Amino acid sequence: METLIEKDEIIEIFISVFAISLAFSLALAGGYDSFGYILSFPQEFLLFVVVSLVTIGSGFVLHEMGHKLTAIYYGAYAKFKMWTKGLVFMMLVSLIGVLFAAPGAVYIFSRRITLKQNGIISIAGPMVNVILMIFFLILNLVYPISLYFSFLEGLYLFGIADGLVNVWIFGALINLVLGLFNMIPAFPLDGSKIILWSMPIWAVMTFGMLGAGYVLGFGLYLTIMWLFLLVLALFVSKLIFRKR
Ligand SMILES: [Zn+2]
Repeated sequence: METLIEKDEIIEIFISVFAISLAFSLALAGGYDSFGYILSFPQEFLLFVVVSLVTIGSGFVLHEMGHKLTAIYYGAYAKFKMWTKGLVFMMLVSLIGVLFAAPGAVYIFSRRITLKQNGIISIAGPMVNVILMIFFLILNLVYPISLYFSFLEGLYLFGIADGLVNVWIFGALINLVLGLFNMIPAFPLDGSKIILWSMPIWAVMTFGMLGAGYVLGFGLYLTIMWLFLLVLALFVSKLIFRKR
């Protein structure tokens, strides 16, 4: 029996998880113009990177493991591969305050994967993010944690209110956003493979998540952002991956 996970894969997962947590921390802190703040309060920034690792890092790695384990269940060989260009691009745009999550993905190798199996392998990722969202919301009811970060002053987003971060709400909302971004039906995002398998399941999942965002305080803002990203992703996808 081959090993479930290989050594080089573990290293690439670790680098990706750390990079996405650092990139999101930098982007939320406001990019390079917050460097002065960050250098003056390095411990504060490090603590926020830890918060990001627990919330965003876990959301990213468990999403990918959702794909991997489902693919292995269907008899495929699946391996996480770091996408170096995407990772560098993610780090660079974080310096101008832009969130972009693409450090790598699980690649699946199999000669006999049906459209349905591919759809289920694809939905496993966003499903993990929904489960994490619910888990963090429950954690918030049981043991809420609020931490103050001076470099996040003036920010009202993802459970952050003028520097005060509700850690579990932050985790829940960021997982919702990670899951929703992947539901965009533009190749190679998960949504494109889910919609090919079942349009109703894609629709229920996507509109359910947009609804959850509305209830959890995003209002229509999340839907508008998602539609904007949908148009952008469809355009980029057509540009890079022309119909073969
Ligand atoms: Zn995915």
